[in-house]
Amino acid sequence: MPQSPVVTRFAPSPTGYLHIGGARTALFNWLFARGRGGKFLLRIEDTDRARSTPEATQAILEGLTWLGLDWDGEPVSQFARADRHAEVARQMMEAGTAYPCYTTPAEIEAWRAANPNQPFVSPWRDSDPSTRPDAPFAIRLRAPREGVTVIHDAVQGDVTFRNDQLDDMVLLRSDGTPTYMHAVVVDDHDMGVTHIIRGDDHLTNAARQAQVYAANGWDLPVFAHIPLIHGTDGKKLSKRHGAVGLHEYAALGYPAAAMRNYLARLGWSHGDDELFDDAQAMEWFDLGGIGKAPARLDFKKLEHVSGHHIAAMSDEALLAELAAFLKATDQPALSPVQLQRLTPALGVLKQKARTLPQLLDQARFALIDRPVAADDKARAALDPVSVGILKDLTAATQHVNWTRDDLEAAAQRMAESHGVGLGKIAAPLRAALAGRTTTPSVFDMMLALGRDETLARLADATA
Ligand code: GLU
Repeated sequence: MPQSPVVTRFAPSPTGYLHIGGARTALFNWLFARGRGGKFLLRIEDTDRARSTPEATQAILEGLTWLGLDWDGEPVSQFARADRHAEVARQMMEAGTAYPCYTTPAEIEAWRAANPNQPFVSPWRDSDPSTRPDAPFAIRLRAPREGVTVIHDAVQGDVTFRNDQLDDMVLLRSDGTPTYMHAVVVDDHDMGVTHIIRGDDHLTNAARQAQVYAANGWDLPVFAHIPLIHGTDGKKLSKRHGAVGLHEYAALGYPAAAMRNYLARLGWSHGDDELFDDAQAMEWFDLGGIGKAPARLDFKKLEHVSGHHIAAMSDEALLAELAAFLKATDQPALSPVQLQRLTPALGVLKQKARTLPQLLDQARFALIDRPVAADDKARAALDPVSVGILKDLTAATQHVNWTRDDLEAAAQRMAESHGVGLGKIAAPLRAALAGRTTTPSVFDMMLALGRDETLARLADATA
């Protein structure tokens, strides 16, 4: 038997920004599908009209795009499929796997008061069809009353639900709108979803959803309910632990490539591998590697992963990440001149930065224009003696080859002729070129800035 191709989906409710937990769920589904030549679909669960907003949908799409998770086809709107959900509910009623229920909210309330802690049993479940009134009705699933529903979960193992504890859930309300739980099953079936990877807060839903699959004779997808992400203290993640929205991580300057690596490790493991790229993650990712215990956010680890990815990235990829960071933080894009000065320095800069703002801070010398504004320390470094040395150095470097070796040799000669150490030259040079005293090496800066800009900055500082 040929194996059916893998189809996964991410099904966010558009009621706010993309939560870090949602981003991880999306990532797991994406990795699972992409690693198997399958499809990764996106469904916007916008049935709750009061809470769903187009802005939230937009934020979710932007978050996924920033994270680098591409989906197949157009995003599906669950709300737009309401007619199909109603159609299936009516077909089920005709087939007898569902039935019309005429109870009013007041009657249900009275029933509950008389039967505390019991799942509601509708009096219409086994009623004679000829007694049905001409009145609006909801369509309820005729769920099995006896036995158990077992979910063979790829993460949680076998999870058993007693059928007498599950009520006959409403599929279609009396106003003709589908319930969320019914819509999910119809959509997943119609979209051909083979694997449902989602938060374990949906585990009990899986039992009810499995009953709808069974009632329709549809193949059940593989369920994998993943534990939620916890904060550093092991408690459920909340704002007090720090960033919870994916956009916040983007604004903190973690590259998307690093976030993919870090989030993949949050609740999933492949031996002791901590640092990997997308190709490895796709090859390795499987449901068996997902842990049963909630993973904890660890910002130190994230920084470490981030630093590794920044250092390992090609210049081109790094510039793309920088552009995304600037956009995420509403900062102007780098100008052609800035890019021209920054690019030659990237090789050096990326070895030291753990986040993109750290990199931009070290890159400041390449991003600023003349005249360079000096901070207090830089001004102090430009004392009259140092300015004298810089003037000589300016003259001496007018005609040297603009290479590291020749620049180093020129600086060395200058230090010797003034009877000072190289450090005495480096401090005012940093001040003149960058306006501050902590910078990349002076030769790296000179090479990145080029002869004309370097000499112009030296001239400014010694004027
Ligand atoms: N819309 C649900 C949520 O955002 C997900 C439902 C599902 O994955 O089945 O939590």
